[in-house]
Amino acid sequence: MIELRATVPSTLHQSFAGDVYNSAVYLKRCFAEIETSVVTALGEDNLSKKMRERFVSEQLNTQFVFSHNTKVPGMYYIETDDEGERSFIYWRDDSAAKKVVEFMSEDIVKQLSTGDMFFFSGISLAVIENQARPQFWEIVKQLKAAGVKIVFDPNYRARLWDSVEQTKQQYDTAFSLCDITLPGVEDLETLYNVKSVEAVIEYLTPYNIDEIVVKNGPDSVITKEGQTLQSHSITPVKNVVDTTSAGDAFNGVYLGARLDGRTISDAVKLGAKAAGTVIQQPGAIAPKDVFQQAMAQTGL
Ligand code: ADP
Repeated sequence: MIELRATVPSTLHQSFAGDVYNSAVYLKRCFAEIETSVVTALGEDNLSKKMRERFVSEQLNTQFVFSHNTKVPGMYYIETDDEGERSFIYWRDDSAAKKVVEFMSEDIVKQLSTGDMFFFSGISLAVIENQARPQFWEIVKQLKAAGVKIVFDPNYRARLWDSVEQTKQQYDTAFSLCDITLPGVEDLETLYNVKSVEAVIEYLTPYNIDEIVVKNGPDSVITKEGQTLQSHSITPVKNVVDTTSAGDAFNGVYLGARLDGRTISDAVKLGAKAAGTVIQQPGAIAPKDVFQQAMAQTGL
Protein backbone atom coordinates (compact mmCIF):
# COMPACT_ATOMS: atom_id res chain seq x y z
CA MET A 1 0.00 0.00 0.00
CA ILE A 2 0.92 3.63 -0.30
CA GLU A 3 1.63 5.01 3.16
CA LEU A 4 1.04 8.70 3.90
CA ARG A 5 2.38 9.83 7.25
CA ALA A 6 1.66 13.20 8.81
CA THR A 7 4.93 14.86 9.84
CA VAL A 8 4.99 18.61 10.53
CA PRO A 9 1.59 20.31 9.99
CA SER A 10 0.40 20.13 6.37
CA THR A 11 3.27 17.90 5.32
CA LEU A 12 2.95 14.25 4.35
CA HIS A 13 5.74 11.76 4.06
CA GLN A 14 5.00 9.13 1.42
CA SER A 15 6.34 5.59 1.57
CA PHE A 16 5.21 2.03 0.91
CA ALA A 17 4.07 -0.61 3.41
CA GLY A 18 1.78 -3.58 3.97
CA ASP A 19 2.10 -6.45 6.42
CA VAL A 20 3.35 -9.17 4.07
CA TYR A 21 5.62 -6.73 2.23
CA ASN A 22 7.11 -5.52 5.54
CA SER A 23 7.91 -9.11 6.51
CA ALA A 24 9.52 -9.77 3.11
CA VAL A 25 11.73 -6.68 3.47
CA TYR A 26 13.01 -7.65 6.91
CA LEU A 27 13.50 -11.30 5.94
CA LYS A 28 15.61 -10.29 2.95
CA ARG A 29 17.62 -7.68 4.89
CA CYS A 30 18.71 -10.38 7.34
CA PHE A 31 19.02 -13.33 4.98
CA ALA A 32 20.21 -11.94 1.66
CA GLU A 33 20.78 -15.41 0.19
CA ILE A 34 17.10 -16.42 0.53
CA GLU A 35 15.18 -15.60 -2.65
CA THR A 36 12.10 -13.69 -1.54
CA SER A 37 9.21 -12.89 -3.89
CA VAL A 38 6.19 -10.68 -3.35
CA VAL A 39 2.87 -11.85 -4.81
CA THR A 40 0.53 -8.90 -5.36
CA ALA A 41 -1.17 -6.75 -7.97
CA LEU A 42 -0.39 -3.09 -8.59
CA GLY A 43 -1.61 -0.71 -11.30
CA GLU A 44 0.04 0.92 -14.29
CA ASP A 45 0.28 4.35 -12.63
CA ASN A 46 3.42 6.19 -11.51
CA LEU A 47 3.08 5.25 -7.85
CA SER A 48 2.78 1.58 -8.83
CA LYS A 49 5.93 2.01 -10.87
CA LYS A 50 7.71 3.52 -7.87
CA MET A 51 6.44 0.77 -5.62
CA ARG A 52 7.80 -1.87 -7.96
CA GLU A 53 11.14 -0.02 -7.99
CA ARG A 54 11.13 -0.01 -4.20
CA PHE A 55 10.58 -3.78 -4.13
CA VAL A 56 13.59 -4.16 -6.43
CA SER A 57 15.70 -1.83 -4.28
CA GLU A 58 14.91 -4.10 -1.29
CA GLN A 59 16.22 -7.03 -3.39
CA LEU A 60 12.76 -8.59 -3.61
CA ASN A 61 11.82 -10.67 -6.64
CA THR A 62 8.99 -8.94 -8.58
CA GLN A 63 8.23 -11.78 -10.97
CA PHE A 64 4.85 -12.26 -9.23
CA VAL A 65 4.00 -8.56 -8.94
CA PHE A 66 1.22 -8.20 -11.50
CA SER A 67 -0.09 -5.02 -13.16
CA HIS A 68 -3.82 -4.40 -13.36
CA ASN A 69 -4.78 -2.19 -16.30
CA THR A 70 -7.42 -0.05 -14.55
CA LYS A 71 -6.92 -0.32 -10.77
CA VAL A 72 -4.41 1.52 -8.56
CA PRO A 73 -2.78 0.51 -5.23
CA GLY A 74 -4.54 0.91 -1.88
CA MET A 75 -3.49 3.81 0.34
CA TYR A 76 -3.58 4.74 4.01
CA TYR A 77 -2.94 7.81 6.09
CA ILE A 78 -1.45 7.48 9.56
CA GLU A 79 -1.34 10.08 12.29
CA THR A 80 0.19 9.74 15.76
CA ASP A 81 -1.15 11.96 18.57
CA ASP A 82 0.85 13.42 21.48
CA GLU A 83 0.39 10.20 23.50
CA GLY A 84 1.75 8.10 20.62
CA GLU A 85 -1.74 6.76 19.85
CA ARG A 86 -2.07 5.94 16.15
CA SER A 87 -5.08 6.51 13.91
CA PHE A 88 -5.56 5.47 10.30
CA ILE A 89 -7.69 6.37 7.29
CA TYR A 90 -7.81 3.80 4.47
CA TRP A 91 -8.59 3.96 0.76
CA ARG A 92 -8.33 0.33 -0.20
CA ASP A 93 -11.77 -1.01 -1.14
CA ASP A 94 -11.09 -0.88 -4.86
CA SER A 95 -7.36 -1.58 -4.93
CA ALA A 96 -5.49 -3.57 -7.55
CA ALA A 97 -4.39 -6.04 -4.85
CA LYS A 98 -8.01 -7.21 -4.46
CA LYS A 99 -7.67 -8.74 -7.93
CA VAL A 100 -4.43 -10.66 -7.30
CA VAL A 101 -6.00 -14.13 -7.53
CA GLU A 102 -7.13 -13.39 -11.11
CA PHE A 103 -3.46 -13.29 -12.10
CA MET A 104 -2.53 -16.58 -10.46
CA SER A 105 -2.72 -18.84 -13.52
CA GLU A 106 -1.78 -22.50 -13.51
CA ASP A 107 1.63 -21.58 -14.82
CA ILE A 108 2.20 -19.06 -11.99
CA VAL A 109 1.09 -21.63 -9.39
CA LYS A 110 3.53 -24.12 -10.90
CA GLN A 111 6.34 -21.60 -10.47
CA LEU A 112 5.29 -20.87 -6.88
CA SER A 113 5.28 -24.62 -6.20
CA THR A 114 9.06 -24.69 -6.50
CA GLY A 115 9.37 -22.43 -3.43
CA ASP A 116 10.04 -23.54 0.15
CA MET A 117 7.42 -21.40 1.83
CA PHE A 118 4.21 -19.51 1.03
CA PHE A 119 3.22 -16.85 3.54
CA PHE A 120 -0.11 -15.04 3.77
CA SER A 121 -1.93 -13.17 6.52
CA GLY A 122 -5.44 -12.43 7.69
CA ILE A 123 -5.09 -9.11 5.88
CA SER A 124 -4.25 -10.94 2.63
CA LEU A 125 -7.38 -13.07 3.15
CA ALA A 126 -9.58 -10.06 3.84
CA VAL A 127 -8.27 -8.24 0.77
CA ILE A 128 -9.00 -11.15 -1.59
CA GLU A 129 -12.54 -10.78 -2.92
CA ASN A 130 -15.24 -13.14 -1.66
CA GLN A 131 -15.75 -14.85 -4.98
CA ALA A 132 -11.99 -15.43 -5.44
CA ARG A 133 -11.47 -17.16 -2.08
CA PRO A 134 -12.33 -20.71 -3.24
CA GLN A 135 -9.71 -20.37 -5.99
CA PHE A 136 -7.20 -19.02 -3.46
CA TRP A 137 -7.72 -22.07 -1.23
CA GLU A 138 -7.29 -24.39 -4.23
CA ILE A 139 -3.94 -22.70 -4.91
CA VAL A 140 -2.86 -23.07 -1.28
CA LYS A 141 -3.79 -26.78 -1.39
CA GLN A 142 -1.81 -27.24 -4.59
CA LEU A 143 1.25 -25.56 -3.07
CA LYS A 144 0.97 -27.65 0.08
CA ALA A 145 0.68 -30.86 -1.99
CA ALA A 146 3.86 -29.80 -3.81
CA GLY A 147 5.70 -29.64 -0.47
CA VAL A 148 5.65 -25.86 0.03
CA LYS A 149 5.35 -24.95 3.73
CA ILE A 150 2.21 -22.90 4.28
CA VAL A 151 2.54 -20.05 6.80
CA PHE A 152 -0.32 -17.98 8.21
CA ASP A 153 -0.39 -14.93 10.49
CA PRO A 154 -4.02 -14.18 11.45
CA ASN A 155 -3.32 -10.41 11.76
CA TYR A 156 -7.00 -9.66 12.41
CA ARG A 157 -8.39 -6.29 11.27
CA ALA A 158 -12.11 -6.21 12.07
CA ARG A 159 -12.92 -3.37 9.70
CA LEU A 160 -11.73 -5.35 6.67
CA TRP A 161 -14.31 -8.09 7.20
CA ASP A 162 -18.09 -8.23 6.67
CA SER A 163 -18.65 -10.26 9.84
CA VAL A 164 -16.87 -12.21 12.57
CA GLU A 165 -18.52 -15.38 11.25
CA GLN A 166 -17.00 -14.85 7.82
CA THR A 167 -13.55 -14.29 9.34
CA LYS A 168 -13.79 -17.39 11.51
CA GLN A 169 -14.78 -19.50 8.52
CA GLN A 170 -11.76 -18.30 6.52
CA TYR A 171 -9.38 -18.62 9.49
CA ASP A 172 -10.60 -22.16 10.12
CA THR A 173 -9.51 -23.10 6.59
CA ALA A 174 -6.21 -21.25 7.05
CA PHE A 175 -5.43 -23.02 10.35
CA SER A 176 -6.37 -26.37 8.80
CA LEU A 177 -3.94 -25.91 5.93
CA CYS A 178 -0.98 -24.11 7.48
CA ASP A 179 2.25 -25.74 8.70
CA ILE A 180 3.36 -22.71 10.69
CA THR A 181 1.21 -20.02 12.32
CA LEU A 182 2.32 -16.84 14.07
CA PRO A 183 -0.68 -15.34 15.89
CA GLY A 184 -0.69 -12.46 18.35
CA VAL A 185 -2.81 -12.96 21.48
CA GLU A 186 -4.72 -9.74 20.83
CA ASP A 187 -5.61 -10.88 17.31
CA LEU A 188 -7.44 -13.96 18.48
CA GLU A 189 -9.06 -12.51 21.58
CA THR A 190 -11.94 -10.81 19.77
CA LEU A 191 -12.56 -13.80 17.55
CA TYR A 192 -12.32 -16.74 19.94
CA ASN A 193 -12.35 -15.13 23.40
CA VAL A 194 -8.86 -16.50 24.11
CA LYS A 195 -7.10 -14.14 26.50
CA SER A 196 -3.69 -15.70 27.13
CA VAL A 197 -0.91 -17.44 25.21
CA GLU A 198 -1.93 -20.71 26.86
CA ALA A 199 -5.51 -20.28 25.65
CA VAL A 200 -4.27 -19.53 22.11
CA ILE A 201 -2.16 -22.71 22.10
CA GLU A 202 -5.10 -24.71 23.43
CA TYR A 203 -7.41 -23.29 20.78
CA LEU A 204 -4.96 -24.15 17.97
CA THR A 205 -3.91 -27.62 19.16
CA PRO A 206 -6.70 -29.57 17.36
CA TYR A 207 -5.49 -28.21 14.01
CA ASN A 208 -2.23 -30.21 14.28
CA ILE A 209 -0.08 -27.32 13.07
CA ASP A 210 3.65 -28.24 13.05
CA GLU A 211 4.88 -24.96 14.48
CA ILE A 212 2.86 -22.46 16.53
CA VAL A 213 4.51 -19.17 17.46
CA VAL A 214 2.42 -16.95 19.74
CA LYS A 215 3.46 -13.31 20.02
CA ASN A 216 2.43 -11.37 23.10
CA GLY A 217 3.92 -7.88 22.78
CA PRO A 218 6.79 -7.23 25.19
CA ASP A 219 5.72 -10.09 27.50
CA SER A 220 6.98 -13.26 25.86
CA VAL A 221 6.82 -15.49 22.82
CA ILE A 222 5.55 -19.03 23.29
CA THR A 223 6.28 -21.70 20.71
CA LYS A 224 4.95 -25.18 20.25
CA GLU A 225 6.63 -27.58 17.87
CA GLY A 226 5.14 -31.04 18.01
CA GLN A 227 4.67 -31.61 21.74
CA THR A 228 7.50 -29.25 22.72
CA LEU A 229 6.30 -26.09 24.39
CA GLN A 230 8.86 -23.32 24.97
CA SER A 231 8.58 -19.88 26.56
CA HIS A 232 11.01 -17.25 25.27
CA SER A 233 11.54 -14.03 27.19
CA ILE A 234 11.62 -10.68 25.42
CA THR A 235 13.78 -7.73 26.44
CA PRO A 236 11.27 -4.86 26.62
CA VAL A 237 12.20 -1.72 24.69
CA LYS A 238 11.86 1.47 26.72
CA ASN A 239 11.88 3.96 23.90
CA VAL A 240 8.88 2.79 21.85
CA VAL A 241 8.25 5.31 19.05
CA ASP A 242 5.82 3.45 16.77
CA THR A 243 4.75 -0.18 17.06
CA THR A 244 3.66 -0.39 13.40
CA SER A 245 5.00 -3.59 11.85
CA ALA A 246 6.51 -5.07 15.05
CA GLY A 247 4.76 -8.35 14.31
CA ASP A 248 5.66 -8.15 10.62
CA ALA A 249 9.36 -7.67 11.33
CA PHE A 250 9.25 -10.52 13.83
CA ASN A 251 7.57 -12.80 11.26
CA GLY A 252 9.96 -12.01 8.42
CA VAL A 253 13.12 -12.52 10.43
CA TYR A 254 11.76 -15.56 12.30
CA LEU A 255 10.81 -17.29 9.04
CA GLY A 256 14.10 -16.34 7.36
CA ALA A 257 15.97 -17.83 10.30
CA ARG A 258 13.95 -21.05 10.13
CA LEU A 259 14.57 -21.32 6.38
CA ASP A 260 18.25 -20.79 7.16
CA GLY A 261 18.17 -23.82 9.46
CA ARG A 262 18.26 -21.98 12.81
CA THR A 263 16.58 -23.44 15.89
CA ILE A 264 13.25 -22.10 17.08
CA SER A 265 14.85 -20.27 20.03
CA ASP A 266 17.49 -18.63 17.85
CA ALA A 267 14.80 -17.66 15.34
CA VAL A 268 12.71 -16.08 18.14
CA LYS A 269 15.76 -14.17 19.42
CA LEU A 270 16.46 -12.75 15.97
CA GLY A 271 12.78 -12.00 15.28
CA ALA A 272 12.41 -10.22 18.63
CA LYS A 273 15.56 -8.18 18.06
CA ALA A 274 14.25 -7.10 14.65
CA ALA A 275 10.82 -6.17 16.11
CA GLY A 276 12.43 -4.34 19.05
CA THR A 277 14.52 -2.31 16.61
CA VAL A 278 11.66 -1.43 14.27
CA ILE A 279 9.45 -0.06 17.08
CA GLN A 280 12.14 2.49 17.94
CA GLN A 281 11.70 4.05 14.48
CA PRO A 282 8.67 5.78 12.94
CA GLY A 283 6.87 3.99 10.10
CA ALA A 284 6.65 0.37 9.02
CA ILE A 285 10.08 0.13 7.40
CA ALA A 286 13.05 1.20 9.51
CA PRO A 287 16.03 2.85 7.79
CA LYS A 288 18.24 0.11 6.40
CA ASP A 289 21.48 1.23 8.11
CA VAL A 290 19.87 1.49 11.57
CA PHE A 291 18.24 -1.92 11.16
CA GLN A 292 21.36 -3.59 9.79
CA GLN A 293 23.51 -2.17 12.61
CA ALA A 294 21.14 -3.44 15.30
CA MET A 295 20.95 -6.90 13.73
CA ALA A 296 24.74 -7.05 13.39
CA GLN A 297 24.94 -6.92 17.22
CA THR A 298 23.34 -10.35 17.31
CA GLY A 299 26.16 -11.84 15.27
CA LEU A 300 23.52 -12.90 12.72
P1 ADP B 1 1.69 -7.33 16.58
O1 ADP B 1 2.57 -6.23 16.01
O2 ADP B 1 1.40 -8.39 15.57
O3 ADP B 1 0.51 -6.84 17.35
P2 ADP B 1 3.07 -7.84 19.08
O4 ADP B 1 2.58 -6.56 19.66
O5 ADP B 1 2.83 -9.07 19.87
O6 ADP B 1 2.56 -8.13 17.61
O7 ADP B 1 4.62 -7.64 18.84
C1 ADP B 1 5.35 -8.47 17.98
C2 ADP B 1 6.73 -8.66 18.54
O8 ADP B 1 7.34 -7.37 18.69
C3 ADP B 1 6.76 -9.28 19.91
O9 ADP B 1 6.75 -10.69 19.81
C4 ADP B 1 8.06 -8.75 20.46
O10 ADP B 1 9.14 -9.53 19.98
C5 ADP B 1 8.17 -7.37 19.83
N1 ADP B 1 7.71 -6.31 20.75
C6 ADP B 1 6.49 -5.74 20.78
N2 ADP B 1 6.42 -4.77 21.73
C7 ADP B 1 7.64 -4.73 22.31
C8 ADP B 1 8.26 -3.95 23.37
N3 ADP B 1 7.59 -3.00 24.02
N4 ADP B 1 9.56 -4.20 23.67
C9 ADP B 1 10.27 -5.14 23.01
N5 ADP B 1 9.76 -5.91 22.03
C10 ADP B 1 8.47 -5.71 21.68
